[in-house]
Amino acid sequence: MAMLSSIEEALGALKRAAAVFVMAGAGMGCDSGLPAFRTPDGFWKAYPPFAARGLEFHEVSTPKWFDEDPTMAWGFFGHRHQLYTAAEPHSGYHRLLELISAKEPIGVTNGGEDDDGGDVPPGFVFTSNVDGAFVKAGYPPQAIVECHGSLGHLQCVAPCSDAIWTAPDGLSIVVDEDTFRAAEPLPACGACGGLARPNVLMFGDWRWVADRTEAQEERYAQFRTHVRAHLRMNPSATVAIVEMGAGKAVPTVRLESEELARDFGARAALIRINPAEADIPDIGLARGIELAMGAKAAFDAFEAVERS
Ligand SMILES: [Zn+2]
Repeated sequence: MAMLSSIEEALGALKRAAAVFVMAGAGMGCDSGLPAFRTPDGFWKAYPPFAARGLEFHEVSTPKWFDEDPTMAWGFFGHRHQLYTAAEPHSGYHRLLELISAKEPIGVTNGGEDDDGGDVPPGFVFTSNVDGAFVKAGYPPQAIVECHGSLGHLQCVAPCSDAIWTAPDGLSIVVDEDTFRAAEPLPACGACGGLARPNVLMFGDWRWVADRTEAQEERYAQFRTHVRAHLRMNPSATVAIVEMGAGKAVPTVRLESEELARDFGARAALIRINPAEADIPDIGLARGIELAMGAKAAFDAFEAVERS
């Protein structure tokens, strides 16, 4: 029963940890019923018109279409926005939030220019998903990094400024279900009147406005500083890094987890939850726990252990 002991070990590490880093990749959303785009097959099944044109996900998810074919670009992103708006975060999001919410704050912010002098929460999310699912599931927005941006936010295509604004609910975009083209009028920039686009980092994207994500990354860096201070003052305290659905194809999240693991070294447990790529390299961790399963299945298994 190697698997059962790994489940118990992972749950124990999560419960024991003073602070939890939640690291989420594309696989996290698939358990909520969202399509997987990594393989052409999965992408073309969800978007047949692109199969006819032989365009793969990385070729469609580029900013050039907002210049060359705006109704196609907004057809794709508008449809994704509607999918994500309709999707409910699966139970794994909620169970993890319960585990984190049961912990004490790890410190108090020092009342600098940009902080309110309040408690430092015991968890922080780093996600490459642009679906806003963690906020929807109730995680505090000020403790989330969306490293590839957010479909729920817009910017100017040009861009004429660094402005980023919240997308209106549902974006009121009408997408033709056969052609996947969006009907005019398309979202516009309030400043210059030109076309707007999602504030999502696309492939080959030199015009993405990074300010919102950079502000999130700054809060994340501050959180890491607080965690380090907490570990210094509490010699038996540990950190859990729980990574879910972060594969090797776009390895941003996976590399960030391993960077954290190296940083916190012997004080950290890395829990890598991934159906196909759960392997953890030798990076001097106190504990590396590989769970070859989806995120929802893992949290279902944690709950089964708790009940038994
Ligand atoms: Zn503009």
